[in-house]
Amino acid sequence: MRLVYVISAGVESLRIPLAACSSIWKNFGLGSRISIIKKHPPAEKGLRLYFQNKQFPGLFRRVLIVNSNEVSQFSPVWGYTRSGEEDIFVFANRLYDPVEDLFLNRVYRGVAYLLGISVGLEPCKGDKCVMGESKIAEDLDRKGFNLCGECRAKALEMIRDVTF
Ligand SMILES: [Zn+2]
Repeated sequence: MRLVYVISAGVESLRIPLAACSSIWKNFGLGSRISIIKKHPPAEKGLRLYFQNKQFPGLFRRVLIVNSNEVSQFSPVWGYTRSGEEDIFVFANRLYDPVEDLFLNRVYRGVAYLLGISVGLEPCKGDKCVMGESKIAEDLDRKGFNLCGECRAKALEMIRDVTF
């Protein structure tokens, strides 16, 4: 069983990691494991180093949901990953909106988009596809919640082809 490890650090609401898990399941058919860390990750160590030892058998990707105000090493984007990369960073404070549904929907779409990038998908031109280009948080509000048929088929194929 391939699992995504959703680690929520310094983020108050449990609804945030749960929105991530639901997006991961709905879009990629992958289960999740959740850890809640009350404190912010220590900025001086760097996020990558801090999360590096968070492992378990069957781990496929890590989704790290953090409040990044204290983290200086990243440019002001709402999230970050690269194709083939194990870690996906989501900066909750940059997706934040006082309307909770809007905030949760951004997390849902943002996680789908970045997990898509990390398994090798590219931004999609499809109107409703969640892989539509998303440079700023507001871009996330304008697209659908899920992968289009074409992106989903590609994603499932790429996940299947990953060897452990
Ligand atoms: Zn698509």
